Amino acid sequence: MIKFSKACVAGNELKYINEAIQSSCISGDNIFTRKCHKWFEDRLNCKKVLLTTSCTHALEMAAILLDIGDGDEIIMPSYTFVSTANAFVLRGAKIVFVDIRPDTMNIDESKIEEAITTRTKAIVPVHYAGVACEMDSIMDIANRHNLFVVEDAAQGMMSSYKGKALGTIGHLGAFSFHETKNYTSAGEGGLLLINDERFLQRAEIIREKGTNRSLFFRGMVDKYSWVDIGSSYLMNDVSAAYLWGNLEKADDINLDRLSSWQKYYDGLKELENNGYLELPKIPSGCVHNAHMFYIKVKDLDERTKLMEHLKKNGIITAFHYVPLHSSLAGLKFGRFDGVDEFTTRDSERLLRLPMYYGLKEDEILDVVDTIKIK
Ligand SMILES: *Cc1c(COP(=O)(O)O)cnc(C)c1O
Repeated sequence: MIKFSKACVAGNELKYINEAIQSSCISGDNIFTRKCHKWFEDRLNCKKVLLTTSCTHALEMAAILLDIGDGDEIIMPSYTFVSTANAFVLRGAKIVFVDIRPDTMNIDESKIEEAITTRTKAIVPVHYAGVACEMDSIMDIANRHNLFVVEDAAQGMMSSYKGKALGTIGHLGAFSFHETKNYTSAGEGGLLLINDERFLQRAEIIREKGTNRSLFFRGMVDKYSWVDIGSSYLMNDVSAAYLWGNLEKADDINLDRLSSWQKYYDGLKELENNGYLELPKIPSGCVHNAHMFYIKVKDLDERTKLMEHLKKNGIITAFHYVPLHSSLAGLKFGRFDGVDEFTTRDSERLLRLPMYYGLKEDEILDVVDTIKIK
């Protein structure tokens, strides 16, 4: 059987977890968290990062940092994970969904401006499959309308847009280390990127239960106390130790995934040329991380049949998001601005193929051949 996804194990994870336990410093902000923080700040070239318990929580921290409140509007695609919306709904915001571009499944930047009202506070682009949104246009719109940009880069570690790492372009960025993502921490995990200096100090406070404990540890206040709202958003150091095992092999992992991605692409190109399916598109200026390999078939019916055919042959595939705007909570907390031309249609015909670190060449060829005989 070929699984759809496997958590990344690069080799030294158990050793580092052991080290963390031996040090008896297994709560947050210990040795492995510091190693990971430094790695991200150097590699992504950003001012400040904070490991969090999940990307969901990094997004929640972003919503608190931006002082999102009752009646504020947040613009995002409907084709995304629930956490992108929930983080802002929890603060009382209304979600304004706009359509996606069919080439990348990312928010259609040309539809954002018409969705802006006097209540709009932020735009949340989601870099689907680790392929960047059109960030120059999005930042330009945000600047002209005085809006914040929070990048949901959950899937985008090691991807870039015009030379800049995803997550470093907006005011804030969020990543995930869930087991389904390219890099994993033990349990759940995430990362908040703080690109705008105004948020530096308060981000630490919110992550530390609303206290100035971080300042205290740096000797900048003589005791720590409750100064703001916050919660417990620190990743524990055992999780960070696992993540460090992944990060020290980050380039190998990235190359392995990109090579699998290319094999799928080359193997399925003929079917695209003959009009049987569509392959992912990578716009110029975007370097991606092979987070996923998806194909798009004619419609829902054809996708259901292809999924079953692959399953019968021992290959597990997955479709993806059910558009948020038509979900129970989406109807309650959001509205769709403009016309849903591609969100529903393309979400119903997209199918994700097996993709993980260590996927073998003969397994990829098996998937390709099994699709071809259908
Ligand atoms: C995975 C994912 C999340 C949530 O990440 P967690 O770490 O599981 O909280 C949010 N947004 C997108 C686009 C994702 O793919």
